[in-house]
Amino acid sequence: MKGLDKEIKKYDTDHAIEIAPRVWWVGHVQEDDPFQCHVYLIEQGDESVLIDPGSKLTFANTLRKINEVIPFTSIKYFICQHQDPDITGAIPLIEQLLCRKDAVIVTHWRTKMLLKHYGFDIPFWLIEEHDWQLPLADRTLNFCFTPYAHFPGAFTTFDPLSGVMFSSDLFGGLTDEFVLFAEDESYLEAMKPFHQHYIPSNDILQYVLSEIEQYPMQMIAPQHGSIIRKPLIPYMIDGLKSLDCGLYLLLRGTTDFTKLAKFNETLKNITKTMTIYRDFREIASALFKLIRDEIAVSDLDFYVQDNDGEMLYFSEKNHYRGNIITELPETVSKAFQSRSVEEKEHHRGSYELKRESIDGALFESLLIPLLLPDKGTAQAVIMLKLENINSDREKIERVVEQMYLPLQISIEREMIYREMEKEREKIYQRSVRDPLTNLYTRIYMKDVVQKLLDQQDRDNVSDTVAIMIDVDYFKSINDTYGHNQGDIVLQTIAASLLEHCSSTDIPIRLGGEEFVIFSRNNSDNAWHVAEKIRSHIESLQWTGALAATSVTASFGIAYRQHGEPLDAFISRADEALYRAKRQGRNQICIYL
Ligand code: GH3
Ligand code: MG
Ligand code: MG
Repeated sequence: MKGLDKEIKKYDTDHAIEIAPRVWWVGHVQEDDPFQCHVYLIEQGDESVLIDPGSKLTFANTLRKINEVIPFTSIKYFICQHQDPDITGAIPLIEQLLCRKDAVIVTHWRTKMLLKHYGFDIPFWLIEEHDWQLPLADRTLNFCFTPYAHFPGAFTTFDPLSGVMFSSDLFGGLTDEFVLFAEDESYLEAMKPFHQHYIPSNDILQYVLSEIEQYPMQMIAPQHGSIIRKPLIPYMIDGLKSLDCGLYLLLRGTTDFTKLAKFNETLKNITKTMTIYRDFREIASALFKLIRDEIAVSDLDFYVQDNDGEMLYFSEKNHYRGNIITELPETVSKAFQSRSVEEKEHHRGSYELKRESIDGALFESLLIPLLLPDKGTAQAVIMLKLENINSDREKIERVVEQMYLPLQISIEREMIYREMEKEREKIYQRSVRDPLTNLYTRIYMKDVVQKLLDQQDRDNVSDTVAIMIDVDYFKSINDTYGHNQGDIVLQTIAASLLEHCSSTDIPIRLGGEEFVIFSRNNSDNAWHVAEKIRSHIESLQWTGALAATSVTASFGIAYRQHGEPLDAFISRADEALYRAKRQGRNQICIYL
């Protein structure tokens, strides 16, 4: 769904929208226009106020929306916060409609000097002559002077009743899609190119923002872009305060306005990417794509050291899954080296450029170390391989700056996930290995053997045989020699099992002195294996406290039938085993 459709769904922009009690948006959405102009109406009986009336292009729609709220003739005050045509173009049309004599254009004398050239009869009401205030029936509007924020007579209007600051060009933004209320912090990126162009310098911006900040604002309603609700206001003010702006920016690089707007969109999307995706693979791929739209890069790689000191390499080539590598390229290895405290302080977003020649072609690589918090050492190094050596430095710097913190967070997050995964694997290993005999456990059997059998069923083969083993009169060994000696017997028998198993056999300690081996069913092999183990156990020479003893075991063998559940399969081997017990022990029985 296009943003415009989405917003129209949320707010019906075909009609006036009440943004605060009796404060209305009466603008008009122009499709495919990044420069949306808003007009606002304060409903105040026959002393109503229209703020920044708008352009000739949109006035017919604005008029229709005003009339939905109040008759147009109820408007007494037409505030023009500066002189531009997107605000004042509609004035000649307004004059044709006006039938009341007391209507006034509320503005600053500097604006009047220009507006009078429209040649209309509506009188001016100058804000500086009225102590920068306009008293209305239930509120007094305050005018905040924002001189030289692109125009000497510019000002903004604050309505103390609703807490809305009608901020004119300030806080305006260029947006691809129409969004009436800024959705999140990313709106700052839409504001940046707009302000960079029309505010002559950062000093002016700093001054006007500190003036504006003094008002208890609930909402900022700019003439362009999106309306900013209270929670986002401090963030947007801070963002603008540190914005570099002015004409000299145009001399440094891009003079093309749309290009700059697009680049800012890319920067905005970098931050967005981090919030949309949680998976590092997705973040890295999306970032790579975004960067490639702006800068000619052939690779975006990550080298990350994990907590066990292993080096992981994430690249598009391995779909950002991260492979363990043992050797680092020399340039990367240098970037990992620790930094002094001063270097560290100036570090955030710093990078090194390395030039290298591969097969006669020159490449530049950008190495960006991500430092561990509170330490001078790098946890990760990002490497951007540039396709040509004359890349736009300013762009690169801004991209790096934008990526730095979110990437640091997502790499940290990825490493935590990996650590958790490793821990889980360790726990699983612990639960599937019996600590006394080091054979697999019942848990492993349920998991892996079951999968093996399911696979065989799918392949339509019954290829497994179970050899069940139980030590004879084991209880009496424990009773005679003690539990510790019993353990030694179990370990020795387990070792014998392992010794006689092939690499494809799966030996399991079911519990106590009971074992089972799952083996491939090839002819009489199972019986031979069982016999080898049986005779080996019987012939074992016990030493130490066990010197006088002899140990034997009984065996039951079952061949799996197609589709047979694991439990039933084991029960049949068990049944054969108990036959071996009944028949005198130390022997092998096959379930027939
Ligand atoms: P049968 O020939 O009929 O199998 O007689 P048995 O005595 O071997 O059988 P029973 O099941 O009566 O006894 C098994 C004994 O194994 C009882 C239990 O205390 C002992 N046992 C179970 N687990 C361990 C262990 O981890 N270490 C030791 N030492 N003994 C164990
Ligand atoms: Mg036993
Ligand atoms: Mg037993």
